Amino acid sequence: MRVTRQRSAILEFLRSKRHHYSAIQIYDAVREKIPNISLGTVYRNLASLLEDGEIISVETSDKCVYYDGFISGHSHFVCQCCKEIYDFPLESTTSEPEKAGFTVSNQRVVYYGVCKMCNQPK
Ligand SMILES: [Zn+2]
Ligand SMILES: [Zn+2]
Repeated sequence: MRVTRQRSAILEFLRSKRHHYSAIQIYDAVREKIPNISLGTVYRNLASLLEDGEIISVETSDKCVYYDGFISGHSHFVCQCCKEIYDFPLESTTSEPEKAGFTVSNQRVVYYGVCKMCNQPK
């Protein structure tokens, strides 16, 4: 696997802050370091980082994809109101496949709903 400057800049950006970014936001941020990077290159690198398990992606209810550089097991909550993505630790209870004797290597749990902030009366 060839590690390009673009690829490491994208990964470095995603791991610099605990947040979830769209490809456009990543493109804007990485362009500050590599001004001649194209959006296509960003998409290509994101796809290969995903494939290699270096990053994970979360899809919102309106099909927007966000990328997360923190791959340690956590679940996501996507607010359908403010579109914010929240991280939550995975519940430590044994999952249903594990109870059935299957070995789970990774788990992607995404909850959709309305967050506490949006639920508060204004
Ligand atoms: Zn919300
Ligand atoms: Zn996350």
